[in-house]
Amino acid sequence: MIYKIIGSGSSGNALLLENGILVDCGVPYKDIKDEVIGLVLLTHRHSDHFRVATIKKLAKDHPMIRFAVPEYLAQDLVEKCLVDTRRIDIIQRGEHYDYGLATIMSYPLVHDVDNVGWWLEINGQTAVYITDTGTVDHLSYKELEQADYYFLEANYEDDEINQRIEKKLQAGDFAYEARVKETHLSLKQAQDFIAWYAAPDSKVIWIHQHKDKEEKKKIKEPPEAKLKGLLKPVDVNGNVVAGGENERMDKTT
Ligand SMILES: [Zn+2]
Ligand SMILES: [Zn+2]
Repeated sequence: MIYKIIGSGSSGNALLLENGILVDCGVPYKDIKDEVIGLVLLTHRHSDHFRVATIKKLAKDHPMIRFAVPEYLAQDLVEKCLVDTRRIDIIQRGEHYDYGLATIMSYPLVHDVDNVGWWLEINGQTAVYITDTGTVDHLSYKELEQADYYFLEANYEDDEINQRIEKKLQAGDFAYEARVKETHLSLKQAQDFIAWYAAPDSKVIWIHQHKDKEEKKKIKEPPEAKLKGLLKPVDVNGNVVAGGENERMDKTT
């Protein structure tokens, strides 16, 4: 599957997939204006995923584009982005929708506003897109198993975020990171998800990584020691290493 990450992280998210399918639209219009887009899938109303000015211009300049969204985004699309209701498809969670370009399905995520993840099948290959969720433990959809591509949030590392919280609290500062832990997925959670769901040859792409304002650096790739305890070994890029096809343990154990 051909894909292009146009933006990822709190400064703006947009993923362009084969056949002109855009997932999230939280980047400046200039970053997508030259792309061929036929279908836009949206997740939630935070501006790093739903940039009103960009969606408004995209819809105006490209009258053929359709928007597939959960019901809670329809009003914003109509009232803020001035998208004609006839171009909006309300997507029910857990249902398949065949667009020809792709078959799509959404499923609920756990964030501080309503949010969904997307599953897509394009030209016989599947992709899973999950970001801005405090947990993935509630998900039990067979579509999420053994996808060809996982675009998965790996927002922070536990040790690192705990240190930052501690440091701020000691200095008497507000630690917004405490909230981040409730509403975003850690690298460990993301790795556990991959260990549980991915196939040996699945491609894993970490998205929505935290960038500290002071440090301006992405969280580092996991050193090998941290990968211990996964059901399947993954390499530094998160790809499951061949030979790691251990029997899955029952999820409740
Ligand atoms: Zn976000
Ligand atoms: Zn968000």
